[in-house]
This record gives sequence, C-alpha cells and structure tokens, in this order.
Amino acid sequence: MNKETGMCFIADMHTHTLASTHAYSTITENAVWCSKNGIKYLGMTDHGIAMQDSPDTWHFENLRILPDHLEGVRVFKGIEADIMNTAGDVDIPRELEHIYYGILEWVNVSMHVQTFRPSSKADHTKAYLNVLKNKFVDVISHSESPKFDYDFDEVAKACAEFGRLIEVNVCRVERGAVQTERYKRILECCEKHGTRIIVNSDAHFYTHIGAFEPAKKLLEEIGFPEKLVINASEARFLGYIKERNERIGRNV
Ligand SMILES: [Zn+2]
Ligand SMILES: [Zn+2]
Repeated sequence: MNKETGMCFIADMHTHTLASTHAYSTITENAVWCSKNGIKYLGMTDHGIAMQDSPDTWHFENLRILPDHLEGVRVFKGIEADIMNTAGDVDIPRELEHIYYGILEWVNVSMHVQTFRPSSKADHTKAYLNVLKNKFVDVISHSESPKFDYDFDEVAKACAEFGRLIEVNVCRVERGAVQTERYKRILECCEKHGTRIIVNSDAHFYTHIGAFEPAKKLLEEIGFPEKLVINASEARFLGYIKERNERIGRNV
C-alpha cells in the first residue's frame, strides 16, 4: 500500500458501503481500515438511485448525520452518480437537488450499462462534456470501458479547463490488458493537457481500499507526472478540496 517507494496515496475517493447491496462493508469498517493503512481521506460514494442495487434517496438526504471524522479519518459524504443521457443529467432527482448538493462533499460520475445504453463515440463524448457543466461534479470515474468509447483528447482537455478530475480506477485496471491500454491512451491525453487525475479503488470490500498497486505500476510504467496525481500528495488533495469548495460557493 503506502509502504513501497514512489507515489504514496493519502486518499481513496471512490468506495462503497453495504448501502450499495453488492458491497459488503460498513462505513466504520472502511474507516478503521483506512486509519490502519495511511488513508487519511475517504470518499463514501454509494450508487445513485438509478442503479438497481442503490440505496434510496433517504440514504443521501440523511448523510449529514455522519460525523466528519471516523477513526481519525476524514469521511467525505459522496455519491457515484449515473450519467443518464447525452445532456449530462445525473440520477439526482431535480426536486431533491438542493438537498443532495447541500450535503454531498464529493461527486463521482460514471456511465454504467444498466443506466446508459451504450451509444456512439460522439454521444458518449457529448454526455461527458455536458456533465462537466455541473459544478458539483468532481470526477469522471472508470471511463476506460470499450463499451463507452469517447474522444479522450476532447474530454481530457475539457476536464483541465473546468478543473475536474479523471479517475484511474483500480478495479478496472485489474480487469486486464484492454482496460490498461485504454487507460494509457487516456493518461497520454491528460498529460498533454495538464489534466489532473485521481487513483481510486472503487472498493466493494474494505480490504480493497487504498490497494492501488496495479494503478501505481501503470502510472510508473508510462512515467505519468506525479504532480498531476492529486491524491499522491496531501497538499495537492487539500488544494483541490479548497478549489471545489470555491467553485460550488461553499464556505468551510
Ligand atoms: Zn461504477
Ligand atoms: Zn463504484
């Protein structure tokens, strides 16, 4: 985890709890693991309501009762929202937007085959470009899927312009050569445009949190600049948090 030389990660901002029914750990188990393994910032990002296994809207509306710190770990109340269409709408009900966005401290957005029918490269590109117009969105998650091909260059450029992040998702890197190759191409575009990235586990069980070795190996293999990896430095990570709070007009 953080014991090897090279990049040292202090945050994992894409993790699930058993509120997503195909995940199996509680938020407390996740936090205990983080505190023992050098992960100081934890994003609790269960699925948005369009996914079959997702919690009810009540889950998100009630997140405010959670403490900011558990076991000394800063827990960010987040979501992995689904991108629903080319307009870039996400599965946050319009009438509840003010409640969700008033509470959420971190927003990952993803395309899943269950909630977005794979379409053309142009449509996927359009969806990503439009979702970036939503100021609450922090990260485009696991975008390497061949089912959702898109213009890597154009989206990386837009992320740099809008100050948003592209995720290297460890679960996906572990899926094999196709995903890894696509990540290499995405990362090339990120380097070209100075787009910042974040490495996340997408853990569905606590022992996977912060287990970033496969992604770290990939970044090192291609010589990706560490200065663009926001969770490999506490200062960079907190700098991004400050920036996102300014962007959404939240005083902290
Ligand atoms: Zn996902
Ligand atoms: Zn996920």
